[in-house]
Amino acid sequence: MKKVLIIGAGGVGNVVVHKCAQRADIFSEIVVASRTVARCDAVARSVAELTGRTIRTATVDADDVRQLVALLDAERPSLVIHVALPYQDLSIMEACLAAKVDYLDTANYEPLDEAKFEYKWQWAYRERFREAGLMALLGSGFDPGVTNVFCAYAQESLFDEIRTIDILDCNAGSHGHPFATNFNPEINIREITQPGRYWERGEWRSIAPMSERRLFDYPEVGPQMSYLLYHEELESLAQNIRGLERIRFYMTFGDEYLTHLRVLQNVGLTRIDPVEFRGQRIVPIQFLKALLPDPASLAATYTGKTCIGCLVEGRKDGAPRRIFIYNVCDHAACYREVRAQAISYTTGVPAVVGAMMMLTGRWRGAGVFNMEEFDPAPFLDALGPMGLPWQVQEIAVGAEQEVPPA
Ligand code: NDP
Repeated sequence: MKKVLIIGAGGVGNVVVHKCAQRADIFSEIVVASRTVARCDAVARSVAELTGRTIRTATVDADDVRQLVALLDAERPSLVIHVALPYQDLSIMEACLAAKVDYLDTANYEPLDEAKFEYKWQWAYRERFREAGLMALLGSGFDPGVTNVFCAYAQESLFDEIRTIDILDCNAGSHGHPFATNFNPEINIREITQPGRYWERGEWRSIAPMSERRLFDYPEVGPQMSYLLYHEELESLAQNIRGLERIRFYMTFGDEYLTHLRVLQNVGLTRIDPVEFRGQRIVPIQFLKALLPDPASLAATYTGKTCIGCLVEGRKDGAPRRIFIYNVCDHAACYREVRAQAISYTTGVPAVVGAMMMLTGRWRGAGVFNMEEFDPAPFLDALGPMGLPWQVQEIAVGAEQEVPPA
């Protein structure tokens, strides 16, 4: 029976609070804090309606370590679940060290003025967390998160040796807007406009953004054009999966989305540096975020499914083997359950399962950890019952799942 402090009350925060509230056996007390307390209050009202539980709310600017420490000292939670933005990772880790509280997040640190996400800033905290006897669990969303656990499970139970991994992230849902992002627009656009990068034979290889695409046939969804992107879990998995020759990441995008993105880039609206406008300095991508639909607002009318998983190839018992290990999630079903769309849901549920692993002692250690460093079994046992069932599909080796683009 533990108290948890959730920071962030956007699309993902909403799911985390609802799912923690469903498990009163583990999360005996829940506080949600964010910059705009009205959003926390709205989540608390929804939880009260759906589960009858009372959630307390608080205001905090998570860029400010002193405010965070004051909140942690006042609340004394066992764990902070950070689902605000990646810009706040380091300030929240600092505050956790000062207040002696464990930490969990879903996205690695990214400086505000440079679209560059890497683990080096958070891995630099390993020694300090170890010395303090505290645990930080990084990237406990779906990707990163469940995808890392799928890879660990493949390594432990499905393969003797793994040769290649392709992480495939498909959203075949429809929200009815000409252009919207499924999670924080600023973070999302910064991620996908970077050069594509993948790891092969010990080296990182870069390609122009969106310049490589393949058609993958996704279970329950069908063939979808998927684009090679750099994604943060590649960095830790390239280090932690033994004998790996290549690891890549693909995400689906529709033509309409890509056309809008190209125009927004061409006119400068995705720039992250400040520009002067009528005597004010504005950052175009922040202005764009203010114009775009709030990702959480897409949920009520979202239809269709997501399918995210790992296509793993290697050898088992002397024979070649190829599998796809994946989850399929339905947008409308997520809305019925917790008033969220599937992207928020597939991120929020693993954050809660990661928290369950930490609070029940199934995953324990002093230091800073990535998901694949722990035993995948208890996490995967809990994932289905918490709302994200998963499957392993055998794919005949040599049978082609990738089709060259038309
Ligand atoms: P939203 O933009 O919907 O919500 C962000 C929340 O953080 C808002 O409540 C916002 O408050 C709050 N916030 C922002 N800045 C601060 C601050 N300085 N202090 C306190 N609170 C702050 O984002 P999402 O819910 O869509 O995404 C949340 C996180 O999940 C992101 O880090 C994203 O990268 C990650 N993510 C991870 C995925 C995975 O699979 N691993 C997939 C999708 C997302 P306000 O209302 O005031 O703006």
